[in-house]
Amino acid sequence: MNNIRNFCIIAHIDHGKSTLADRLLEYTKTLEGKALTEQTLDNMDLERERGITIKSHAIQMNYEKNGQKYTLNLIDTPGHVDFSYEVSRSIAACEGALLIVDATQGIQAQTISNLYQAINHDLHIIPILNKMDLPNAMPEEVEDQIIELVGCDRSEIIHASGKTGLGVYDILDAIIERVPAPKGDGNAPLQCLIFDSVFNSFRGIIAYFKVVNGSISKGDLVKFVATGKEYYADEVGVLRLDLQPCEKLGAGNVGYIISGIKTSKEVKVGDTITHVKNPCSKAIEGFEEVKPMVFAGVYPIDAEDYEDLRASIEKLQLNDASLTFQPESSAALGFGFRCGFLGLLHMEIIQERLDREFDMNVITTVPNVPYKAYTKKDELVEVHMPSMLPEATLLDHVEEPYIRAQVITKTEYIGSIMTLCLGKRGELIKQNYLMGDRVEIEYDMPLAEIVFDFYDKLKSISRGYASFDYYPIGYRTSKLAKLDILLNSEPVDALSTLTHVDNAQTFGRKMCEKLQELIPRQQFDIAIQAAIGAKIVARETIKALRKDVTAKCYGGDISRKRKLLEKQKKGKKKMKQIGNVEVPQKAFLAVLKLD
Ligand code: GDP
Ligand code: MG
Repeated sequence: MNNIRNFCIIAHIDHGKSTLADRLLEYTKTLEGKALTEQTLDNMDLERERGITIKSHAIQMNYEKNGQKYTLNLIDTPGHVDFSYEVSRSIAACEGALLIVDATQGIQAQTISNLYQAINHDLHIIPILNKMDLPNAMPEEVEDQIIELVGCDRSEIIHASGKTGLGVYDILDAIIERVPAPKGDGNAPLQCLIFDSVFNSFRGIIAYFKVVNGSISKGDLVKFVATGKEYYADEVGVLRLDLQPCEKLGAGNVGYIISGIKTSKEVKVGDTITHVKNPCSKAIEGFEEVKPMVFAGVYPIDAEDYEDLRASIEKLQLNDASLTFQPESSAALGFGFRCGFLGLLHMEIIQERLDREFDMNVITTVPNVPYKAYTKKDELVEVHMPSMLPEATLLDHVEEPYIRAQVITKTEYIGSIMTLCLGKRGELIKQNYLMGDRVEIEYDMPLAEIVFDFYDKLKSISRGYASFDYYPIGYRTSKLAKLDILLNSEPVDALSTLTHVDNAQTFGRKMCEKLQELIPRQQFDIAIQAAIGAKIVARETIKALRKDVTAKCYGGDISRKRKLLEKQKKGKKKMKQIGNVEVPQKAFLAVLKLD
């Protein structure tokens, strides 16, 4: 155990985490014999494209120094606010953290919140200035930021470059010298902390864990404390580039277990594994059930695809327990599913995976945060879609989820960001000047306001010089209204939203304007109306189109005519017929893109 080092990497997206992680694998010869694929840690295409490590992984390296052999376990952490609970469990499995900061950019909000988590878990922090090969690196200024934040000495900061390899051996040495060995008791009853799990279509669920106390061997009968389920450890092992089975894993080490588990729901991040005989007296602290923060309806464009869609979502759920779903139906869209997501990014990822991996063309309805409605009889109704809101006569009050948002930006943008937050019903909590021209502000805001278009707006008004992080702070009473959209007087349930009463009218007007832009002209006039109850609060009209698309062909060239019709049909794949109006797929997410 004295020669084990468990560490994670804390970095803002694009600051070079994956590149540097690859260097560590290369310099410890973990990659030897294998093709050195770029960015080994992110193995999903999607992740690579988005530059986000969506699911955390772990990898073990061996490194020899002064004749001593060390085992280094790198536990990767997801880099997006939607996945912050997973990050917290990965951090809890480590004794040290590499803090990677891009020397041309300085510290960003996401970095700070993860860093605070690491410091709270008593991790030793190794600060690293990355991208030092770039001519616009500002080492002194960024070092000052790091020193203020971490409270370290300037001499502890390692200058590195994932590109040239500068500083990589210094980082390995620092991991061995500065990160403490794990402190578990190898003779105590077994306690393993699950920090991640992945689904493998041949082997079922593979759970990744750290042995906190005791030891686990192949064949042991174990129990997962939170779910109460028992399994035999069919295989245990360590994570190299692939899985390496072994007989036994001792305290302090990081590994995996395969035990015939079929679905991700049975393995919960943060849960404790113990022995059925001689179990630990209590579970490892910090376990939480992750709850979806955003709900939306997911519908097939073609009604015939309903069963295929169910099968696809079920498959996605096998390896993503944070995705929830249940059947629902909509007057406008027919049969579909109400899905729960961790956040909007998670929702976009699922929608994209349905499209790419399963070739499923879907419509996603306006997302909804989970509201708590209390009836006059003091019954609690969890509202996951606008139609679930109890009628006004029965309703006592509604509560909505709030978050604390942290933004770090340059002083020149602070005015417009504060205006933005205020417009989002934000309440200023803290304003703090950091080094140079950086400011940190904190706001309490309704989650619903963040879910819609906050992040995009923040990025555009700050020209990208603002970073953002948030965490939930509970529910507060709020005044909500249900805003309906009508197309030619027919209400379209999939376009209904719950919104704060003060914003409802403006919101309705913007929705109508946006839909007018997005719905193509058809053979007849289309009236778009926004209504609160029976009251129409906004209206737009799309004028009829007169042109007959085939008229141009003079009736002569049949094949050309057919081609045109086929083209039109293809175009329609992304359209949904609602009443007599064709509505394009993107119109359903119009609400996310209002100005
Ligand atoms: P991650 O999002 O933190 O995992 O960052 P990546 O490792 O994916 O790197 C983001 C971008 O920065 C990529 O285009 C890398 O090629 C580039 N990059 C990473 N490290 C360095 C470095 O040390 N120097 C330079 N010049 N570019 C780097
Ligand atoms: Mg990466």
